[in-house]
Amino acid sequence: SLSNRLKKVASYLPENANFADIGSDHAYLAAYVCQNNPNAKAIAGEVNIGPLESAKDTINEYGLQNQIDVRLGDGLEVIRPGEIKQIVIAGMGGSLITSILNQHKEIALEVDRMVLQPNVDAKELRQWLDDHKYLLIMEEIIEEQGHIYEILVAGKDKSIKSPYNDLEKEKQLYFGPYLLQDRNDAFMKKWQIEREKLERIVKQMKQAKQIDHDKINLFTKELEWMREVLN
Ligand code: SAM
Repeated sequence: SLSNRLKKVASYLPENANFADIGSDHAYLAAYVCQNNPNAKAIAGEVNIGPLESAKDTINEYGLQNQIDVRLGDGLEVIRPGEIKQIVIAGMGGSLITSILNQHKEIALEVDRMVLQPNVDAKELRQWLDDHKYLLIMEEIIEEQGHIYEILVAGKDKSIKSPYNDLEKEKQLYFGPYLLQDRNDAFMKKWQIEREKLERIVKQMKQAKQIDHDKINLFTKELEWMREVLN
């Protein structure tokens, strides 16, 4: 059955979703959503042939050809204007997701909702959403089979107020404004691990021949935040 991670992602799509899942791999997410709702529609985008073939197999197996369209291509280039209402991009790094959104802004900026699941660098994605007037509606952090995942839900709902405040914004973008409030077990575990990683990196950087003071200063500031948050 579908991973908890992707079930959570699916739960943030509206009823009768009409969405693109970019980097769909086996198209398990699209199949799950469309099986549960005969009115849902999806475009499963894949840049690689192997996963594209797997997606086609899944769709044939479940007989979902009328609801899911599988397309080969890079990111949002497979979508035509007006075709979809939501975008899902899951299981990639935050930088890759950000570059996929940047490459086809005409598509990225016209959807009502995005459900994004960056494996790393969620900060870049929060920054992108904020820069492009998408409101961060909800965040989740979960642990599954030894991995920690973040899910960001963004939209254009004007009735929700921004979770950021000017004084704390940098830190909120880094940790996630809602996640920082909650500080659940997965969050604490993630930042414990990140802190140990970054401490090792800074130690090595201080011993290097060429000392990158700017980077050391940035990481030192981030380490301060982590210590605060973990206390
Ligand atoms: N979304 C699924 C999930 O969360 O389980 C699959 C994640 S898998 C780790 C990443 C997938 O994204 C791979 O199948 C890869 O081929 C695809 N991918 C990577 N870059 C892409 C791009 N620019 N456009 C479309 N697909 C891409």
